[in-house]
Amino acid sequence: TRTPLMAGNWKMNLDWKQSLSLVEELGEALREVDTTVVEAAVLPPFVNIRTVQTAVEAGDLPISYGAQDISAHESGAYTGEISGSMLTALGCTYVAVGHSERREYHCEGEVETNAKVKAALSVGLSPILCVGEPLEERKAGKQVEYSLAQLEGGIEGLSAEDVAKVVVAYEPVWAIGTGEVATPDDAQEVCAAIRDLVRTKHGDATADALRVLYGGSVKSSNVAELMTKEDVDGALVGGASLKAEEFAKIVGYQD
Ligand code: 13P
Repeated sequence: TRTPLMAGNWKMNLDWKQSLSLVEELGEALREVDTTVVEAAVLPPFVNIRTVQTAVEAGDLPISYGAQDISAHESGAYTGEISGSMLTALGCTYVAVGHSERREYHCEGEVETNAKVKAALSVGLSPILCVGEPLEERKAGKQVEYSLAQLEGGIEGLSAEDVAKVVVAYEPVWAIGTGEVATPDDAQEVCAAIRDLVRTKHGDATADALRVLYGGSVKSSNVAELMTKEDVDGALVGGASLKAEEFAKIVGYQD
């Protein structure tokens, strides 16, 4: 009932020409994949979104796309910021919010993250709300508690209808870019707790519609095992999304 989502977070990589090559190669590689049963998405740097849009439209490629960040503000005197309506004008579907790299390097906490989630929803973008514990919390066995606190902060004040449009990505910080993937059971534990919290607060329909992704060192060699877990509905992929063949294999994990 939930269509799995494989989202590639390109982070601060690739100039516009490289982005063009990658999205075209990805479109080509995805010909081998049944994209009616799984959704492929990419999150390029802002300056490459127009390029991705053009390639996707020209080739009618089965690729959704979005941004890695959004301003909490609608428009106006916010130098350097990018608004949600600018993103929808480029055909974006998604925007990452609250990534651990934003939280760590840009001091984004619960208030900022919640405001960005709301800004995204107000223009019809689906926020991909990232949560996940650092190593210390994992060692202390507090991964569920920590991740749920971030989730609650992120969706504070949202209606059930809006929560159903959110994608939650569980990305344990210790697994990001380290090659150290969480075990399928570790991923399932927190992803299930995320869905349970949403069920308690917003009911069955919302919880059953919510897509919960796992992120952190996902590769074509480990994605299928993660996807066997009931509450893992896809992946948020960093490094492995920068190679067309590899990312297409992740999207086609069922084949
Ligand atoms: P890696 O897949 O490179 O570990 O990055 C995960 C991530 O942060 C995706 O948002």
